[in-house]
Amino acid sequence: MGQQKIIIALDGHSSCGKSTYAKLIAAELGYAYIDSGAMYRAVTLAAMDAGLFDDNAAPPPEKIEALLDHVELKLKHNPAKRRTELFLNDRMVEDLIRSMEVSAHVSYIAAISAVRRKMVEYQRMLGAEKGVVMDGRDIGTVVFPDAELKIFLTASLEVRAGRRYRELIEKGMAAEFADVQSNLEKRDHIDSNRDDSPLKQADDAILLDNSEMTLEQQMIWFNNLYRQVITAADDKD
Ligand code: C5P
Repeated sequence: MGQQKIIIALDGHSSCGKSTYAKLIAAELGYAYIDSGAMYRAVTLAAMDAGLFDDNAAPPPEKIEALLDHVELKLKHNPAKRRTELFLNDRMVEDLIRSMEVSAHVSYIAAISAVRRKMVEYQRMLGAEKGVVMDGRDIGTVVFPDAELKIFLTASLEVRAGRRYRELIEKGMAAEFADVQSNLEKRDHIDSNRDDSPLKQADDAILLDNSEMTLEQQMIWFNNLYRQVITAADDKD
């Protein structure tokens, strides 16, 4: 009975703790953690750097598509920080991509099909060997529809806004609670209603509302689920 490596897809609403949870799961299993949202954020940063949002109007999708030829994303492990960092054209952008300004534009960029095609291709390459936990919005529905374990995570809007707000303040970034909450609402609305790969729970994903749960409780819940999935997979061998 060999413990085979699987793909774990973790989708859900904005700021419900997906990345913290995914990182912990990855560390426990010795898997790679891949943050797909960071990639859409990096494309957004590239568009902002190119001045495409300067007049406050959303840039036409053709301009974003043209920009994609000049966007190179790379993940590199930083042993000192013990984390994987995203590089946009050889610049480390982990902090820059978490700003409120990037958050304000990212869902517009992520709705553009050309952007999604490029990101999904990269994500599939990164998951080709399995042994990954990937978080996002369409991982279980589009990127890895055959993922062995799919979780759809959610929490109440107030809880999510509170968590994101504290995270920004702790990082020393400027933020107002009301702005954070309205940004989450807007992103969820755009993400859930776009034509290409909208945010929705995959038919075979398991729903977890973590509004009232500690991380420790979430890990107990996960370990139970993981054991069941692995036992079922091993029985099939
Ligand atoms: O996960 P995070 O909040 O960093 O994602 C930022 C944005 O990127 C989301 O609001 C969504 O618009 C987009 N996204 C997506 N598909 C994914 C991951 C993120 O459309 N798989």
